[in-house]
Amino acid sequence: MSNPTLENLQILARESLDSIEASRDADELEMLRVRYLGKKGIVTEQLKLIPTLEPVDRKDFGQSVNSLKQKLNQAIKTRSESLARDAIESQLVSEELDVTLPGRYGTAGSVHPITRTITRMQEIFDGLGFDVAEGPEIEDEFYNFDALNIPAEHPARAMHDTFYVDDSRVLRTHTSPVQIRYMEDHTPPLQVVAPGRVYRCDSDITHTPMFHQIEGLSVGEGVTFGHLKGVLTHFLQAFFEADLKLQFRPSYFPFTEPSAEVDISCVFCGGNGCRVCKQTGWIEILGCGMVHPAVFKHVKIDSEKYTGYAFGLGVERLAMLRYGIDDLRMLFENDVSFLAQFH
Ligand SMILES: [Zn+2]
Repeated sequence: MSNPTLENLQILARESLDSIEASRDADELEMLRVRYLGKKGIVTEQLKLIPTLEPVDRKDFGQSVNSLKQKLNQAIKTRSESLARDAIESQLVSEELDVTLPGRYGTAGSVHPITRTITRMQEIFDGLGFDVAEGPEIEDEFYNFDALNIPAEHPARAMHDTFYVDDSRVLRTHTSPVQIRYMEDHTPPLQVVAPGRVYRCDSDITHTPMFHQIEGLSVGEGVTFGHLKGVLTHFLQAFFEADLKLQFRPSYFPFTEPSAEVDISCVFCGGNGCRVCKQTGWIEILGCGMVHPAVFKHVKIDSEKYTGYAFGLGVERLAMLRYGIDDLRMLFENDVSFLAQFH
């Protein structure tokens, strides 16, 4: 090593190879490549020293520089491949997928207990041959009152019960107007149920301004109160899946004559008496009766030839009894933890 330029080159070779080996990523490696092998890189610059050397040393020195350039190129390539492998390895580790973990499930909704109750009621009546009809929620006074034999002076017409939309239209106060609309469009024999929303100006712990009813109507030749009792008994026993007893109490509705209110033996105590049935053993469940001839007159059905029965049920009340819900407001608050129980 008599040639100091050649010695310098060996030092440069060690330094550059060491730094390439120690580079931590592709960016740093590229920086080193430019630093040593770029157009103005340290190693490239060495070639410019050749003219300054003794002629006898030039060949050796030139070969040494070229050999170093090759070594550096090879080292950079090797380091680059190794860095790429490391990058993939660390990505695999950081993105490791444990296929044995349980899956994540989306939250599924559930059918609202009111909708569920209406569907269940419809299914039972469908099995008895009843059609399903719907009517408008904004109803003419004629359909909501007059045609149902509710004269103008009837208390049900007073403002405290009814939401008036304008002088002659109301938010229907019951589903009974659907009876009238259905009888206008169909000739007996007919059997129909009409579920839907109804509205009353009433709001306290056991009343909400909007609630649901289901109306039933059957008209034909020879339809009797016995048929009404049979249908209601079958329906209530099927709905509650229990061998319930029914009790019919005389009552009054403008659109039926005779009229009755129906109690069922308490679904909670089986008739022995409890808090829900106020120790009576009976729970009031619906109103019903034989269609009043005055109603038939409005829809031009001959009351001498045909008879019929009608009944109306409160959906909320049946849902509460069926599912053991003790607060009416729970049906309207849309509390997810409550509703999720009805999956
Ligand atoms: Zn009871």
